[in-house]
Amino acid sequence: MIIYIDIDETICVSPENRNYAEASPILENIAKANRLYDGGHTIVYWTARGSGSGIDWREVTEKQFEEWGVKHHELRLGKPIYDLFIDDKNMNARDWPDTIPVDENNSNIFDTV
Ligand SMILES: [Mg+2]
Repeated sequence: MIIYIDIDETICVSPENRNYAEASPILENIAKANRLYDGGHTIVYWTARGSGSGIDWREVTEKQFEEWGVKHHELRLGKPIYDLFIDDKNMNARDWPDTIPVDENNSNIFDTV
């Protein structure tokens, strides 16, 4: 599967002032994401860091990924800013199970989670 994962408040906690350089990793969630990577899935991190401010947070984020041991295939910035994302293939990071059962056809995973 191709799995997109958010960064802030998903694999790290960021301060309210949005100085992402001061973010703290959520090691439990990084481990879950790394297990998906190790399982052969394509892991893409997609963030809105800088989407509002215009600041380029790529270098800071890549350094954090290295320090935190975040395995990934791609880091994408430019995620739009929104308050609610309604979609049929989403999972709230707060409900992230230890393992995500995946069927052979990579479909209907939310029927089994
Ligand atoms: Mg977030």
